[in-house]
Amino acid sequence: MVKLSVKDAKIPESSVHFPWFVHVLFRRSDTARLQYAVQLLRQAGSVAVLTGAGISTPSGIPDFRSAYSGLWNQIDPMLAASIWAFYDQPERFYAWMLPLAQRILTALPNPAHLALVELERLGKVEAVITQNIDALHQRAGSRRVLELHGHLRSLTCLRCGFRGDAEPFLQPFVRHNHLPRCPECAAVLKPDAVLFGEPLPEDAVLAAQEAALRCDVMLVVGSSLEVMPAADLPALAARRGAQLIFANRGLTPYDHLADVILEEDVAWTLPRLVEGVRDGEGR
Ligand SMILES: [Zn+2]
Repeated sequence: MVKLSVKDAKIPESSVHFPWFVHVLFRRSDTARLQYAVQLLRQAGSVAVLTGAGISTPSGIPDFRSAYSGLWNQIDPMLAASIWAFYDQPERFYAWMLPLAQRILTALPNPAHLALVELERLGKVEAVITQNIDALHQRAGSRRVLELHGHLRSLTCLRCGFRGDAEPFLQPFVRHNHLPRCPECAAVLKPDAVLFGEPLPEDAVLAAQEAALRCDVMLVVGSSLEVMPAADLPALAARRGAQLIFANRGLTPYDHLADVILEEDVAWTLPRLVEGVRDGEGR
């Protein structure tokens, strides 16, 4: 196997804008990187996939953890989407959540989500570990999904412990702005998404760490690797000898560990990656 010098081939990341012909000159190395990533996936017995907000932006869902992403009129999510804000001012919390919930309820999986379903069908996927709360992996058809930051499928009463499906509560909320209230005690219900200041679901975190330790390749898709413990997983996998493929538009603090970095749009990159793996397997 010819090990490409992928890091050498990396397009310089900076705020400098290159003229179009420079991008054409670099196209060759883009193709080489994609082919190398395909080769790594083909050789891998098991792949752990780690996804972040970047996989869902092509589906129209903004990054819920980044401030000023356009949906919220410059409300800092650290203030609006924290557990303290939920306790103090649940109305304000839900006002913040409304546009996000609307987007999530109407969003559809994009080609990147679908490509991961195909990779699972090819028997490669150990687990899809996600930082997203939009459930687009499950809606696309992925089966083994570990949600590190919870989800919006159910709501919990922090006063009496009642837990129920979100659907009957969220639809009236999205349509008529009726706050979801506990049928037992009338307290405002909290979505089972992890808010700033809350602990992460322990089962999902442990299963994600196990998947990172077991995999031959970790494929990181659309995560800036800034939020723990997801940020730790690629380093954990690399320490056990796994190879790392990053399909990311921005820089991450762990780029130096990556065997390949693919910077194109993930909705373009992932279908081509999986196509390459499938063609190599003669299916
Ligand atoms: Zn209650």
